[in-house]
Amino acid sequence: MKIRDLEVQVVRKDIKNLHLSVHPPDGGVRISVPLHVDDDRVRIAIIGRLPWIMKRQAHFREQPRQSVREMVTGECHYAFGKRYRLELVEKWGKHEVVVKNNTTLLLRVRPGTSTANRLLVLNDWYRGELKKKIPVLLDKWQEKVAVDINSWGVKRMRTRWGSCNILHKRIWLNLELAKKPSECLEYVLVHELVHLHERHHNDRFKGFLDRLLPTWRVARDVLKRQPLAHEDWVY
Ligand SMILES: [Zn+2]
Repeated sequence: MKIRDLEVQVVRKDIKNLHLSVHPPDGGVRISVPLHVDDDRVRIAIIGRLPWIMKRQAHFREQPRQSVREMVTGECHYAFGKRYRLELVEKWGKHEVVVKNNTTLLLRVRPGTSTANRLLVLNDWYRGELKKKIPVLLDKWQEKVAVDINSWGVKRMRTRWGSCNILHKRIWLNLELAKKPSECLEYVLVHELVHLHERHHNDRFKGFLDRLLPTWRVARDVLKRQPLAHEDWVY
């Protein structure tokens, strides 16, 4: 349904009331409508809420978020908190990422490689970098925290930076941590290890962290300020 310049998705459902919603990231508008309500009433309901819709849309426009990545030369990408310029080189041979001059991520892919596959190559590199750092951190921290884990891994998680399966003594770390300052990776890893002593985020848990990693709150706040980059997760 179109109202003035506004495109509204109308969904008819077996519900009691009209329900209007504006969705991130681009402020799309949807209205769920009971089966018996006709279009005129829907139109009137939407017009009555136009100021609210505009406000919500403006809110989403102002939200800081990572721009859509095209994986082309000149784009800015982060690794361990440092900003790099991407340089795309298309040539035959092996896909790879090379750090050049400490300022550039050279992404070498075969000619014609799709955006999604270029992103995969970069993500493989992120994963590899994490897998180099994590064993070193585990050596240090398993001893300090006085725990032993059975296994660990890196994966994409939509809502969490890390997780710990206490029963199986297994920890997962979010691939996105490769973009954040190294202190964040260390904090999440220590956090998950401490869960082997204390399941809940209670005072006892915080006591462990205060003693082991007194700066943990700084790293936590950095992660809080930088929401998970869902936009990147296109597949
Ligand atoms: Zn936790």
